[in-house]
Amino acid sequence: MKVIQPRPLNVRKMLLVGLVILGLVIWNSVRRPPPPKHPSWTGRTMGTTYTVSLADSPLKWNELRALHEDVETYLIHVNDLMSTYLPTSEISRFNASRTTEPVKVSDALATVTRFALKVSEESQGAFDPTVGPLVNLWGFGPEGDEGPPAEEALEAVRRMCGHRNLTVPSDTSLQKRISELQLDLNAVAKGYAVDHVADLALRTGAQNVFVEIGGECMAHGHNSGGGPWRIGIDVPSYGALPGEGLQEVVNLSGMAIATSGDYRNFHTNETGSVYAHIIDPRTGKPVAHQLASVSVLAGSCMKADALATALFVMGPVEGLRWIEAYPNAEALFVSREEDGSFRERASPGFEAFLGTDNP
Ligand code: AMP
Ligand code: MG
Repeated sequence: MKVIQPRPLNVRKMLLVGLVILGLVIWNSVRRPPPPKHPSWTGRTMGTTYTVSLADSPLKWNELRALHEDVETYLIHVNDLMSTYLPTSEISRFNASRTTEPVKVSDALATVTRFALKVSEESQGAFDPTVGPLVNLWGFGPEGDEGPPAEEALEAVRRMCGHRNLTVPSDTSLQKRISELQLDLNAVAKGYAVDHVADLALRTGAQNVFVEIGGECMAHGHNSGGGPWRIGIDVPSYGALPGEGLQEVVNLSGMAIATSGDYRNFHTNETGSVYAHIIDPRTGKPVAHQLASVSVLAGSCMKADALATALFVMGPVEGLRWIEAYPNAEALFVSREEDGSFRERASPGFEAFLGTDNP
């Protein structure tokens, strides 16, 4: 009988094998997965949230990281120019100045102001970027809420407003005609920033891009399923959260959509009636009609954003007539009915954008 002796352990060999295994474990844990095909991220800007989504993205990790950083840097920059909530922003400094001489500003501020004043003219003053003092007076601005104002206070503040009291004398300056005038671009700045962020993404070579800031959206190309981007329009119930209930779903590619409404930023007075943050410059008071929201489709988000605010002031009847005559823009108006239900009115071209499986 032969006794087979176990071979003596080769310690060096085992040590080597152990080291190789350890190396593989470490390599696996530090090795990056491939970059996502459909990257998406959210962040905070302009007192709200933003989203950037790409579909079938060609970007490598470092390109994606660079885009993320560029977007964040740009959004901080735009806030530093246009936020009326930042006392040090360019717009706040312009507002604090009392001169009626031209004031040098960035070309971005001059461009957006020029566009805002164009919409003011087109909408016969329904859109007015000088209503800031009225927005504040009604408790919707940086200065907080002290309830509805007295008539005399209202009249005094109205005298400080009026889009014709502001001009853009050059590509890098603004000029007040009355020294108390205040500029408020909150109704267009989000749309302007959305367009710029979408361009930043397109410049990387990405073709399928969705950008949204506080519900104002721009979509290019297709979504991760290969179809148009699908954007929900919220049911405009008071206090409802974004996406809680959908009124409609819109198919979007190469277009922007923006919504103005009274259902998210509103106050209630002693008699229980509700008033919201959009001012009718013709009365100096918050808009008072049955319109709960209006969504606008247009080629740029800055335009969609401004037109949505203008149409919210006009209301569903005058607004519908106006948008039907306006080139390359469509609108959906959602009004409150007596029984609490919502009624839709759309410009003829809007329906082509509605999803076939809509609510
Ligand atoms: P949006 O949500 O885009 O309709 O913008 C509303 C914001 O624009 C308000 O919070 C105000 O700062 C400002 N705003 C209010 N009324 C008007 C108006 N009639 N025209 C232009 N901006 C306005
Ligand atoms: Mg707007």
